[in-house]
Parts: sequence; C-alpha cells; structure tokens
Amino acid sequence: MPDLSGKIALVTGGTRGIGLATARALAEAGATVVLTGRDEERAKRAAAEAGAAAGLALDVTDAKAVSTLVRGVAKEHGALDIVVANAGIMEDALLGMIREELVETTLSTNVAGTLHTVQAAARAMMRKKTGAIVVLASIVGEHGSAGQTVYAASKAAVANIARSAAKELGRSGIRVNAVAPGVIETDLTAGLSEDAVAENVGKTPLGRLGRPEDVAKAIRFLVSDEASFVTGQVLGIDGGLVL
Ligand code: NDP
Repeated sequence: MPDLSGKIALVTGGTRGIGLATARALAEAGATVVLTGRDEERAKRAAAEAGAAAGLALDVTDAKAVSTLVRGVAKEHGALDIVVANAGIMEDALLGMIREELVETTLSTNVAGTLHTVQAAARAMMRKKTGAIVVLASIVGEHGSAGQTVYAASKAAVANIARSAAKELGRSGIRVNAVAPGVIETDLTAGLSEDAVAENVGKTPLGRLGRPEDVAKAIRFLVSDEASFVTGQVLGIDGGLVL
C-alpha cells in the first residue's frame, strides 16, 4: 500500500459505494480525508465509517459551494494534496424516452459537478505546485452503451476533463487522471436485472462484477507518488469487460 501520511485528501460523493471505499482506502494509507455528500448527517456517518477526519454537506452542482468548501478544507488543513471527484448519478433512458430534466440533472452533476471540483482543486493546489486529482469516468464513456446515451456522453466529457486539465496543470506539478470502472456492485447498479448481471459477468474475463474496493485501490495508486509520472490517463477497471 502506498504511504499517504501527511497528505490531505477530499473525496466528493463519499457517503457510499466507490466514494466511501476510496475515502476508507486513502485513510488506511495515512491520509487525512474529508468526504462529502448532499446530506450532512449521512456524510458524517460515512466519515466515521471510513476513518475520515470529517464528513461535510456539498452539492457538486453548486459551483460556489464547491469553491467555498474546497478553499475551507485547504485552509483548515494547511494544504490540499489529493482530490477525488467521484460524485455522480446514472439513470438509463432509451433515446426516444430521454426527458429534458434527465439531460439537465445528469450533465449538471456529472459534467459540471466534476468540472467545479477540478477547478477548485486546481486553485487550491496551485500554490504548493503539487497535487493529484482523479475523476470518475466509465467504460460506457469510452465505448457507448444502448439506453445510456446521456450518461455515456457525460462520462466521455469527464474523461476529457481529465485529459485537458492534465495538459493545462502539468507544469504546475498537478497530475489529473480518470478511472473508467466497468460494472461495480453499488447502489448505482443495484437495479440491474439478473440477466444483465449474468451477461456482464459472462463477458468479463475475470468472471465477476467489480467491487468498490477494486476501484478504490486503483485510485489510491493514481493519487500516490507510485504514479508520479502518470497524468492524463483513463485507467479501465473492469475485469477486462471491454476486451
Ligand atoms: P453511488 O450511487 O453508490 O454513490 C454516488 C455518490 O455520489 C453518493 O455518495 C452521493 O451522495 C453522491 N452524489 C450524487 N449526486 C451528488 C451531488 N449532486 N452532489 C454531491 N454528491 C452527489 O454511485 P457509485 O459509487 O456506483 O459511483 C460513484 C462514481 O463512479 C459515479 O461518478 C459513477 O458514475 C461512477 N461509476 C460507477 C460505476 C458503477 O458500476 N457503480 C461504473 C462506472 C462509473 P449523496 O446521495 O449522499 O448525496
């Protein structure tokens, strides 16, 4: 496990699933972790569960709130070394069924929310000229998925936030990478039918669905010094599903 002692980390959407597992993995490696969720009580409970220093309320669609919270965390802890922009939503809809509201909520959470978080993180990290950011893309953002056009488009955008920010921030010592998980067992995928699960497992060389911890460990690698020359990458964590 990489050593993250002395590092200050922020994980958005840390109340469950991949975000909660990531907060726990970073804390286990010695980082001081702040996690967020839309509800303060839920965030506090998750922080206690993950061994995080604090759980705070944050809606990532609110640019001003993101900026204020990130500045506050950096001020309170003296720095911000690691940011994981994990908060995201997924709702399926066939092309003919896509409602305008679905477009709005998906893009404002997944795209604008990630962008707000990366912008605020970059501002906070710029002074120290070092830092590592990871954003949550998806295999469907790279390959497309029937019934998930809006979500896939949002995740393609997220991957390109990582690539573009990596180009812009590299000279400031800030690395930006994305992970592209396959099907991971969380609330987000809990609605999958037995047939869909069996089909995905059947297509996966490693023969199972992913666990939040599988993604968390890859994120922990990317934000650590073990990945000191890795930036602008989209790392698939899918058991080989897309092969
Ligand atoms: P979950 O639904 O289990 O958790 C989502 C998290 O995001 C929760 O902590 C939720 O917090 C938070 N969240 C949602 N909307 C907002 C918002 N507007 N502001 C702040 N926080 C918000 O999802 P997963 O753990 O499965 O997914 C995490 C990320 O990984 C997402 O970006 C998802 O798209 C991506 N991903 C997941 C895959 C999977 O198979 N599970 C595959 C590929 C990518 P709360 O509700 O408490 O506010």
